[in-house]
Amino acid sequence: MEQKSLRADFKWHPIDLSATPLSVHEDAMRLAIAAARGNPAFPFGAVIVRKVDRQVMATGVNTRAANPTFHGEIVAINDYVARHGNLGWGEVILYTTGEPCPMCMTAAAWAGVGGVVYGTSIEKLRQVGIDQILIPATAVIGASPVYHGEILGHVLQAETDALSEPQARLTSVRARQQWLAAR
Ligand SMILES: [Zn+2]
Repeated sequence: MEQKSLRADFKWHPIDLSATPLSVHEDAMRLAIAAARGNPAFPFGAVIVRKVDRQVMATGVNTRAANPTFHGEIVAINDYVARHGNLGWGEVILYTTGEPCPMCMTAAAWAGVGGVVYGTSIEKLRQVGIDQILIPATAVIGASPVYHGEILGHVLQAETDALSEPQARLTSVRARQQWLAAR
């Protein structure tokens, strides 16, 4: 009962992603795709967009060469905090070219982002040879006692798939070579 009343007082509500036309989600995904092109070796990009006026609040591209935790979503979250502070998360949507990995989805859940939209699924990335931890973003959300954000996948999937498919094997080999060289 204690728990229940605490939750009732909790003001955060997820953004209804289906209330926004798909074409509007696609416009934001195109920006995430453009960000992804900034790193051809690891073409994963993300943008954080404020729902009310569709302003792009932050951008990120995978920069794991600098830091292993710097997936596109984490870079975008850090960019957001640097520019806007650690507030307003419930008003924004995270757009990412690939389904957030467990690390990134957990970060988004702790932030309390209003919703998450992705292009290519973790399963699909794994199919084309890109190493992934096989925990779907919905499983991370389902495991959270407080986060209930909506998630919408496969937006512009043909384009987000195309980002990584041609390079998939090369990227995987290159990634392993870089990893081995760093030992
Ligand atoms: Zn990630």
